[in-house]
Amino acid sequence: MPYAIPLWTPPSLPVVGSSDLFPVRRIFCVGRNYVEHQKEMGGDGREAPFFFIKSAHSLVALGGAVHYPAKTANYHYETEMVVALAKGGRRIDAKKANDLVFGYGVGLDMTRRDLQQWGKDHGRPWDFGKDFDEAAPCSALTPAARIGHPSKGAIVLSVNGKERQRADLSDMIWSVPEQIAYLSEYYTLEPGDLIFSGTPAGVGPVKPGDELEAHIDGVGELKVKVVPAL
Ligand code: MN
Repeated sequence: MPYAIPLWTPPSLPVVGSSDLFPVRRIFCVGRNYVEHQKEMGGDGREAPFFFIKSAHSLVALGGAVHYPAKTANYHYETEMVVALAKGGRRIDAKKANDLVFGYGVGLDMTRRDLQQWGKDHGRPWDFGKDFDEAAPCSALTPAARIGHPSKGAIVLSVNGKERQRADLSDMIWSVPEQIAYLSEYYTLEPGDLIFSGTPAGVGPVKPGDELEAHIDGVGELKVKVVPAL
């Protein structure tokens, strides 16, 4: 059956070592998953995980030029390891959760911090702070078949050559398998879903002209240049 309007291309990510694309369905993001970042955002280091969602439409495959977004004066980076699911399911046992994973990438959970804060202050949703045009730059995915399931290794971000974030994947409060297990209690996970697994401390603002370089040991890297608003 034809569609009533032209069908768009599904958002997707390149795959390292392959010409295949990985189609992206949903983007789940965990909040406050590194102790030092949890503290910088006002937590006590021990709370249960929580999630929010960005639409797949916000994906920027391979980074590159990203426009400064509308309606913000406090546009932040958050460097995160991205987990891509090849299989779905519900009520997944954390011990078997890695079986769902296709591979891993380097992502930036870009945030309109002022709009997120407004939502927090007024008991309103975070969507305008987190889910907006070009809010989810992400590298190519490196298959787990090549690198296994990284649970340690440096996660680093530099802005204009100056290091702004550095931690180790082992500093996550909730491991990737625990995140998958927790999410699958609330959602039926599906092939193509991504999970942004949280950011270390050191989040901060960027402006047009700034160059961001994110790196995760064994996983890959992502470069973004912030360009003036559309
Ligand atoms: Mn984040």
